[in-house]
Amino acid sequence: MRHVLTAGRYFREKYGVNVYKIPISLLGFTCPNIDGSVAKGGCVFCENESFSPNLEANMPKKFYLSPHSISNPYLDFQLKQLETQYHKTKIKLQKKFGAKKFIIYFQSFTNTYAPLETLKALYEKALDLEDVVGLSIGTRTDSINKETLSYLAALSQKSEIWVEYGIQSIFDETLNRINRGHDVESMKETIKLTCKHNLSVCAHLIFGLPDETQEMMLESVQFALDMGAKSIKIHPLYVVKRTALANDFKRGLFLPISQELYIDTVVKALKLIPKDVMVQRVSAGIENDTLISPLWCFSKHQQMHKIRQALIQEDICY
Ligand code: SF4
Repeated sequence: MRHVLTAGRYFREKYGVNVYKIPISLLGFTCPNIDGSVAKGGCVFCENESFSPNLEANMPKKFYLSPHSISNPYLDFQLKQLETQYHKTKIKLQKKFGAKKFIIYFQSFTNTYAPLETLKALYEKALDLEDVVGLSIGTRTDSINKETLSYLAALSQKSEIWVEYGIQSIFDETLNRINRGHDVESMKETIKLTCKHNLSVCAHLIFGLPDETQEMMLESVQFALDMGAKSIKIHPLYVVKRTALANDFKRGLFLPISQELYIDTVVKALKLIPKDVMVQRVSAGIENDTLISPLWCFSKHQQMHKIRQALIQEDICY
């Protein structure tokens, strides 16, 4: 039986202990697709509040960074926020799973969309926290430049550094339809440049995007692999409240992927992924009342059970 290289297996093999990612959400970060720099309104499925459960209340909501910000008066606040969120989650993971080492995952919004000085302060603080072995930085391919990549490449000499790009799809018609704010060509350039800097790329892909066939979804997986991604994350597109996609869904303009097609596509995708590429996620659940559809996305646990069963039929262990 073939064992998929999950994050658990990858990090345990590399560090000899359980390593867990700790997601961090910092106030002040936004996204060029939200602040109007490349598009307005964000991706049709994006409801950022739901991605940022850890945000704290005592900071002006209207303060947002961009790479052109002249100063960042809230840097100290952000550093504190980083430390607090880290320690809180670390304690939970230690108690629950016996976690020993940690990767700080800058998850919400676009985490390179700020002046380099701010990024340096935050990343270096994160790497200084006890038991942290590295960083995983979630961002967009249009929001990172050569200077930041060179800086991250230097950090990667001593620490585990991952750059997580939202690719979602490699079809321009889909990217337009979801209001992604960039095209496939620009993604290719950035991913190539990132790999040239010897940085590890994790590609995020969504199955079930509007009007996509299974062949298209699998082509996106193959594209990410061909571009040199060392890790893949896949999740189904679901509709949550307060999004443009929710309006489309109510008007009958968007039909979510069925669970059967999703699982079949995941199985086929995992067969394409080489054994040395880490697969960090193949499901996503949203266990609260913001989920509109499909309802099978409510429980990640049930999704994983069915995915594992389907994979066993193919002699694959996740
Ligand atoms: S790129 Fe990410 S944060 Fe920005 S609008 Fe799209 S999903 Fe939201």
